[in-house]
Parts: sequence; structure tokens; C-alpha cells
Amino acid sequence: MNLKYLTDKTLLQDTKLLAQQYRTITASFLLHIKEIEQRKLYTELGYTSLFTYIVQELGFSESSASRRITAMKMVKEIPELEKKIETGELTLSNLGKAANVFKQENITDVKFKKEVLATIENTSTRTCEKTLNEIIGPSSLPISAPPKTYPLHLSLSEENFNKYEQIRELLTHKKRNKEEIFSIIFDSTIEKLMSKKFKTHSKKITVSTNPRYITASIKKAVYLRDQVCQKCGSKNALEFDHIKPFALGGKSTEENLRILCRNCNQRQKITSRL
Ligand SMILES: [Zn+2]
Repeated sequence: MNLKYLTDKTLLQDTKLLAQQYRTITASFLLHIKEIEQRKLYTELGYTSLFTYIVQELGFSESSASRRITAMKMVKEIPELEKKIETGELTLSNLGKAANVFKQENITDVKFKKEVLATIENTSTRTCEKTLNEIIGPSSLPISAPPKTYPLHLSLSEENFNKYEQIRELLTHKKRNKEEIFSIIFDSTIEKLMSKKFKTHSKKITVSTNPRYITASIKKAVYLRDQVCQKCGSKNALEFDHIKPFALGGKSTEENLRILCRNCNQRQKITSRL
């Protein structure tokens, strides 16, 4: 997209329009995840929580996922907030700060919550913090106190260090620090152990009206198993391939799927036609 030739006026108008659309989409997104939560659809995709669904399936960062879930819960409780988010009167960040305070202080009275929220409309994050602090009490709300941390020193064997590096490389689409990487490892281990313990997503997947459709959990399992092209070892342009071709009745199961790179996949299709 080249914006160089837009007039100043159009550029400003377009940007304003985009900001409005962005807020409308945000509000609509919250309603969508609210409905998904009500239908528990994330379990059908093999996720144990709405949070992991938003992070892993939709590609949001952990912090924006939790901000959106907090906002969604507030909208669930106070439906008129949807309009305020759409108009930009309330930002997700301010809403999140208020939600935290309500939780910390055990505030459950909806009428009081609405009054508090009205005072932080159209304010900056800093002013919002101050206002909440004044209304709810200075002792209870430290202004942007740094989160508590716990030191953990560890030396890894070469084997484990290589595994760590492998995970880091697999998480390439975003630059992450060590803590974030460990947080992902912890989350996915907890998820795995919990689902093993409680058998949350045992056999309810794999049903789809389109037999060609590969469910997210199967994709994930095949990808974790193969990781590279099963013919040449390439890591680029990977695709899922039906070992027994779909046209010959091959199914979209973990056993019948493998990972090939685009080149190998195409070459294979050509030779099988000869
Ligand atoms: Zn290949």
C-alpha cells in the first residue's frame, strides 16, 4: 500500500475512519469471544481455555488476550459498555484497570461499578489510575506497581539447552524474552497435563462435514510430530499431505497425514499422475 500520493486531507480523514473502524471491530470482537465462551467452542478445537484459544488459534499476545477477556467479562456484566468501547469513550486499557480494582477490592455492586467507570471515560491511562486511586482509596491501589517477580537460576545440560533453542526457533513469528518463552512452555505443559488428568478433549474432535477439513488439533499433532518436510527435511513452505490420497478415500487423520514442503508435494502429485 503506497500512501505517498494521498493528499494531507484524505490521509487524515482515512486515518480517522480507520480508528473508528478499529474500535467498532474491537467491540464486535468482544461480543464474538463472549459467544464462543458461552458455546465453549474452544474445547472442540482442542483448547482448554478461551485464553489459549485466543493466543494460539488467533495469534494474539498473552497480554492483549487477557485484556480482551477482561473487557469481554465486563461487557457481559454491563452490556452498555459495548457502545462506550465502540465510541472510544472507554479504552480496553482503562477498562482493564478498573476491572482489576473491582476484583482486588471485592466490588460487586454493578451500580457502583458503573459510577466508577463513568469517571474514567475519555481519560488517559495515568489519569485513570489516579482517579481510581482517589475513589477507591490510596492504600489499595499502588500506581503501576511493578509485578512481583521470583528469581529462578538454572543451568541447562546441552540436551535441554538444545530443546530450549528449538522451542525458541519454533516461536519465530515474534521476538520473545526468556520469561515469555518459559511462560509458553509452562502453559502448554499445564494444558497437556490437565487434559490428560481430566480428559477434557478426548475424542470429541475430528467430526466435520467436510472430510477434507483437517482439525486444528490434528494439524498441531502432525506438525509437532514431523516438524520438517518428510522427504527432503526442508523447513520452508510446509504443507499437509494425505499419504493415501484424499481422492482414493484417504482420511484426514493423524496417521494419514504428513508434512511435505511445497516442492516435494507438487513433485509427488506430478509423478503420481504419470
Ligand atoms: Zn521437501
